Amino acid sequence: MVIKEKYCNSCKTKVSNIVGSVSFICPNCGEKEIIRCSHCRTIAARYKCENCNFSGPN
Ligand SMILES: [Zn+2]
Ligand SMILES: [Zn+2]
Repeated sequence: MVIKEKYCNSCKTKVSNIVGSVSFICPNCGEKEIIRCSHCRTIAARYKCENCNFSGPN
């Protein structure tokens, strides 16, 4: 069984064991999954889509 690790888009921390982390599909291109840890959500760190370069705080 292969476990694909997920890393925060903003700080690159592994989020698999962080409670409150979220992942969602890029609201701009609808293709790339964006992952954010709870810490980056709290400080509203910017994320950037690797697919379309869209960036945002939410
Ligand atoms: Zn983070
Ligand atoms: Zn995108």
